[in-house]
Amino acid sequence: MSRPVPNPGILDIAPYTPGKSPVAEPGRKVFKLSANETPFGPSPKAIEAFKHVADHLEDYPEGTSRVLREAIGRSFGLDPNRIICGAGSDEILNLLAHTYLSHGDEAISTTHGFLVYPIATMAVGARNVVATEKNLTCDVDAILKAVTPKTKLVWLANPNNPTGTYIPFDEVKRLRAGLPSHVLLVLDAAYCDYVSRNDYEMGIELVATTDNTVVTHTFSKIHGLAALRIGWTFGPEHIIDAVNRIRGPFNVSTPAMYAAVAAIEDTAHQAMSKQFTETWRNWLAEEITKLGLKVTPGVANFVLIHFPETGKTSDAADAYLTKRGLVLRALKNYGLHHALRMTIGTEEANRLVVDGLRDFMAGK
Ligand SMILES: *Cc1c(COP(=O)(O)O)cnc(C)c1O
Repeated sequence: MSRPVPNPGILDIAPYTPGKSPVAEPGRKVFKLSANETPFGPSPKAIEAFKHVADHLEDYPEGTSRVLREAIGRSFGLDPNRIICGAGSDEILNLLAHTYLSHGDEAISTTHGFLVYPIATMAVGARNVVATEKNLTCDVDAILKAVTPKTKLVWLANPNNPTGTYIPFDEVKRLRAGLPSHVLLVLDAAYCDYVSRNDYEMGIELVATTDNTVVTHTFSKIHGLAALRIGWTFGPEHIIDAVNRIRGPFNVSTPAMYAAVAAIEDTAHQAMSKQFTETWRNWLAEEITKLGLKVTPGVANFVLIHFPETGKTSDAADAYLTKRGLVLRALKNYGLHHALRMTIGTEEANRLVVDGLRDFMAGK
């Protein structure tokens, strides 16, 4: 008996494992610090807008997310006609893969790149080529060296998840200049709102001045709307035109659209979150380093904590903290076998993690 067989490559994909959703031990408050969600939730105005459209759930959404594209356009100074909104950046990344990759092509991502990239690549039968990083940071030369005649696309999260590191805009421009012009460069700026470095740019200038670069962004992180699944991309007209041809006609829901409009307009909420994140990221890096652990602080809303390979291991720390209701992210599926990623949480959560790690290191 025969049965349906998945397309080539599908069964080679390792399923994406999301951050653990903790189950509370009796009497323990649980802090989920494993999925880079904001401790603040969305802007109250976004919640208001979401509730407001609940009166008309029988109507299909406006199919092009026009109100949201216009709000994003105002916020970033972009032409709304060159924006596509999607059900999370995940949908956008997959649409890009479907539009530009097929069987036999290659797409490049980096050693500890976001795991959605290889999935999107392999889902269309293309090959995921890994460029090595240097010091847990994207190495432009390694990416350029990995280019072959089959390369069609390069995925780059800047800053990257799960490392939190970034490359300066000069380096991004050097990458673009070194890639063949038919290769699409996808700059994933999911964490750009958290970065305050003079040499960082999300990449909009490059999109505006080249024919082969897109920027993607999300409402899941600083805007706190991960549950609504909403992301977007800004690209050259010809790319927007091509991707729109395969985009589902009603891919963004009305509540998501209006909540996102309110969120992007609440700049005070974003500024508060950014400031808080930076303050506590610095504090965590300092306090955890004092405990004798190595920390990659990064520039996003999380820190990467490195543990010894024997003795006080990341597995042991993970189990210890989980018992205390502190849920961090193990990164073995990212090839980081001795590290935990911690999302910056509330002051209470951050202090509890440091206390927990102190006790763990002291063998208590
Ligand atoms: C969280 C994250 C996203 C956002 O994905 P959504 O589908 O929009 O929730 C995109 N890229 C990276 C690197 C991320 O870490």
